[in-house]
Amino acid sequence: MDITRRNFLGIAGATGIAAAAAGAGLVGCAPASQSSSSNSESQEGSSQSVTRNVVATYTCDICICGAGNSGLSAAVEAAQQGLGVVVLEKHGGTGGGGIGTEGVFAVNSTMQQEAGIQIEPAEIISTEMNYSHNRANGLKWLDLVQASGENITWLKECGVNFTGVVDDYHGGQFETFHWFGENRAHDDFSPAMTQTAKDAGVQFLMNCPATDLIQDESGAITGVYAQKLNGDYVQVNAKAVVLATGGFANNDEYLQEGGFSDTTNVKRFLYGYDGDGVRMAMEAGGASNIPRMSGLMQLTVSGAPGGEYGTFGRGDGLVVAGHNAASMWINEDGERFCAESAGVENWMADMIPSLMHQKLYSIYDAKIFKDAYDGMIAPRIDWEATQEELQQRIDENPYNDFFSADTLEELAQKACDALELDYDTVIESINTYNDMCDAGDDAYFGKPAEYMQKLENPPFYFCYMPQACMVTFGGIRTNRKMEVVDKTGKAIPGLYSAGVDSADLWPNIYTINVPGGTNANNINSGRFASKFAAEYIGTEKVGSVSSEGDTSESVPDTSWSMPEGELKDGTYTDTQFGMFSDITVTVTISGGKITEITQENELETSYVGVAAMENTLIPAVIEAQTPAVDTVAGATRTSDAFRTAVQNCCEQAAS
Ligand SMILES: Cc1cc2nc3c(=O)[nH]c(=O)nc-3n(C[C@H](O)[C@H](O)[C@H](O)COP(=O)(O)OP(=O)(O)OC[C@H]3O[C@@H](n4cnc5c(N)ncnc54)[C@H](O)[C@@H]3O)c2cc1C
Repeated sequence: MDITRRNFLGIAGATGIAAAAAGAGLVGCAPASQSSSSNSESQEGSSQSVTRNVVATYTCDICICGAGNSGLSAAVEAAQQGLGVVVLEKHGGTGGGGIGTEGVFAVNSTMQQEAGIQIEPAEIISTEMNYSHNRANGLKWLDLVQASGENITWLKECGVNFTGVVDDYHGGQFETFHWFGENRAHDDFSPAMTQTAKDAGVQFLMNCPATDLIQDESGAITGVYAQKLNGDYVQVNAKAVVLATGGFANNDEYLQEGGFSDTTNVKRFLYGYDGDGVRMAMEAGGASNIPRMSGLMQLTVSGAPGGEYGTFGRGDGLVVAGHNAASMWINEDGERFCAESAGVENWMADMIPSLMHQKLYSIYDAKIFKDAYDGMIAPRIDWEATQEELQQRIDENPYNDFFSADTLEELAQKACDALELDYDTVIESINTYNDMCDAGDDAYFGKPAEYMQKLENPPFYFCYMPQACMVTFGGIRTNRKMEVVDKTGKAIPGLYSAGVDSADLWPNIYTINVPGGTNANNINSGRFASKFAAEYIGTEKVGSVSSEGDTSESVPDTSWSMPEGELKDGTYTDTQFGMFSDITVTVTISGGKITEITQENELETSYVGVAAMENTLIPAVIEAQTPAVDTVAGATRTSDAFRTAVQNCCEQAAS
């Protein structure tokens, strides 16, 4: 083994002592230019050492970690600044969670001017500052608002497609939402930005997540390591690095630090958002902003009929929680704990009170449940049409968490038996609540009288409502130039962050009433990071990317085939995780042939994943009589899960 460097930061990353080591001023690694392109690198400095088999070295001006909305914006801007750019992406496709975004916030764009929409920028900022009790970063809001109109023009020049519709996004406070088309950023943003970046010479390394930053003895960033799917490492030597890895919605430790009381109670929608950027920033000495995090957070009822709403999926919190202030909530002790109108003004707020508790349950009568459906803003759900599905959900009750009964006593008994709640406390809470409804006065929590509707119309419903965290906002502390800063506010030279990794415009609560803000921040912070990185790099820039060593692509080692032997007639089922949720595939074998395939899933997007399976993969497998059919472009993860499930079904049939 060729030991070429000592990197205390890398070791500390593995042992959890990174910040302490960096803070203590321990010696960092040698300059990246001294390393060879193909070697094994072992890092020492504590009892544990990290060995990396570095097979290739790339040398560029700037390395961007993450190819989502902010990373793509940073990449295009960096190339336009004349920098040599490498983008590292954890997954096999670009776009990140950003493929689901429906539009972008802006003030005074040409589209707004053409539509005669006038908004006073200061009004937006004062709204945000008031809403956050002045915890929001006012200067970053100022920068964002001032740049937002021009950013729309820039995006259009990059080929991004807007429908031309600008509105208040289903009842927000301002007409700032610039809509993409119905297939969202998946069709209208990511492909154009990726192509523009490639045309400008940006080099993408896919399936190649950044793992550790490289710093020189002064603490300046000199590059980043990334790991290929086969376990080999590449070293990217860069004068600046932008962390744009999409937040930490999958990182239990960080979520708990951000205030989630019990992360087992969190329903996740996106995988891969492990907080890599936040971890790397902190290992390099960056300060944490996690305690001020917010995000796209909602209450949900898994599997309840509710139609589709992006990755919130079926039975989402929009149906039953934030827009249904007339339900009654209790916690894991069976006690009512807040006014259920918490999400009336801002549906991102309905989950906040639950953070103080371990579990949240919601109780409805038939009228209130129906009103919840009827009152939903988007999409409109037909109550009558969902009745059969609702009953099926309750009858099958796959998670043992959704009950209905004709009396409140029977309902409470069923729920308490299943969920180990105290019956006397639950029934006492319900009766007290109903008494307050009779009086039209929530003497405990002051819920407005209009929402104090007595639970009196059978059947009654009782649902567990897990918290749902789709995306987190915030984590890495940055200054106005998007430089990562330490606890004293001092910038770490060469280290930048963009997108939700460092979003500090919505501390503690996301203000959906100013619609499209996060995406506007993704774009603006990406552009800012690259502009200021270009200024920092100055005349040192080389304007190109060079590489040496084994630069072969990182590709998944997956293939599909039919098992040997005859297939026995029957129906076989297998479940695999797709892009956003489990996909259950059922294969029917008749006469030794695959004759029918059906799929069920909770959260795959209709316009990408479901369309890929229904329109392409199912017919292709039946025609070819093998799961070894082509991937549907843009739906790689759904395609992989589907083919694996089909193969497993066929293996059951062959055994
Ligand atoms: C379904 C959905 C709809 C939304 N709609 C809107 C909307 O309409 N308007 C709005 O303002 N906001 C919206 N948001 C919120 C927000 O704008 C998005 O979450 C946005 O994607 C954030 O951009 P990002 O670049 O920070 O992260 P992402 O777009 O998620 O990109 C992060 C990328 O980093 C990659 N990555 C992770 N770890 C590593 C690593 N170690 N190395 C390299 N790469 C890594 C990921 O694979 C991913 O590709 C929506 C979010 C979702 C999920």
